[in-house]
Amino acid sequence: MISVDAARALVLEAAGAAGPLEAETIALAEAAGRVLREEILADQAMPPFTRSAMDGFALRATDTRRAPARLEVIEEIPAGRAPEKTVGPGQASRIMTGAALPPGADAVQMIELTRPAAAGGSAAAGSSAAAGSFVEIMEPVEPGQHVRREGEDLARGARLAASGDRIGAALIGLLASSGHAQLRASRRPRVAIIPTGDELVEPDRRPGPSQIRESNGQTLRALVGAAGGLPALQPIARDDAEALRLTIVRSLAQSDILLMSGGVSMGDYDLVGDALISSGCRKVFDRVAIQPGKPLFFATRDGEGAELVFGLPGNPVSTVVDFLLFARPAMLRLMGATQCEEPLIAARLAKPLSRRPGRRAYLPATLRWDKGSLEAVLLPSMGSADMVSLARAEALAIIPEESSDLPAGASVQMLPLSGLTRT
Ligand code: AMP
Ligand code: MG
Repeated sequence: MISVDAARALVLEAAGAAGPLEAETIALAEAAGRVLREEILADQAMPPFTRSAMDGFALRATDTRRAPARLEVIEEIPAGRAPEKTVGPGQASRIMTGAALPPGADAVQMIELTRPAAAGGSAAAGSSAAAGSFVEIMEPVEPGQHVRREGEDLARGARLAASGDRIGAALIGLLASSGHAQLRASRRPRVAIIPTGDELVEPDRRPGPSQIRESNGQTLRALVGAAGGLPALQPIARDDAEALRLTIVRSLAQSDILLMSGGVSMGDYDLVGDALISSGCRKVFDRVAIQPGKPLFFATRDGEGAELVFGLPGNPVSTVVDFLLFARPAMLRLMGATQCEEPLIAARLAKPLSRRPGRRAYLPATLRWDKGSLEAVLLPSMGSADMVSLARAEALAIIPEESSDLPAGASVQMLPLSGLTRT
């Protein structure tokens, strides 16, 4: 049995050797969840021109030093229209958020701190003043206030993203704003999924005595899709060595990664390991010091089709934990991702935990904010078959191998599940 860290290192090494998958040119609409395969440079500065960050009045900050100050309004500048007039001493231009700052002006006062100053009279604060009228600036502003300078976020030619970056919504927006309507990304890995077990029936069937509905295939299909892959769920395979071998050989040829579910424990009908080896796969490891998810079989293979094969344990929570910790990073590395692991967060245990040291545990938990820190409430779990707890969990609490009992308030690392099993 090897450690979680050693197992992950072996999986990532094998995925690195098998990849990266071919790159293809895709539209931004196809980019979410993919891995970038080119360097992207800013085609212009960001912001591209100096502009107002507020609805208000563009003016010379020195004119407001002895506020309230009465200024002549010389122009109105909506977003998208170029200013035509230079703001001189004693003058201001009405300006909208995102509009270019007019020459002469060096600051903006927000509309809420101004009021129209009609000749002699006064009106309510916040109401607008038209060109040709006067405005009263009620409070002083500093030079540069409420102004976003050309290039203050990014200089022209600066690097926006590197090959190997994972593409999410924020990067898609950045690429759009810098004129990259298309980009080079790895193709999606094809991931074949084979659920195995004589006791399983398809989810739309009523189970007979001693039967259960197949669920891991459905879960894995969703997980693969969420990780950027193209899942291909195969029909349930029976616990028969030759039948297993045939479906394995067929699936290997048509995929980049093969996921098996079930049949990897020590029982007499756990035939997946042998079937993989007789199909030309080389075992890398078959047990990991993790809880749940210990009976994980990982194999590699050369030749056409899948080079990475995971025999995931049949218990539903074990399947998910092993997918998240091993198969998902392998998919990302195969796509050429530099960062294949999810960031962890820290939380305090809400209640004491009693346990025996040995394996690293991943326990379903919810998170709440309590007295200035994040608290992890472990869900009462019936173990690796308890899909109900997993479906309610917001994160997995990671309990180190060497930890025995932990007191309430102990600090633990958490793997947040948002975007992984939840959206
Ligand atoms: P196994 O690893 O095949 O011994 O399966 C371990 C446990 O997980 C058994 O209780 C199986 O019935 C259950 N199981 C195996 N495969 C699936 C599946 N695809 N969907 C739901 N439960 C499963
Ligand atoms: Mg089985």
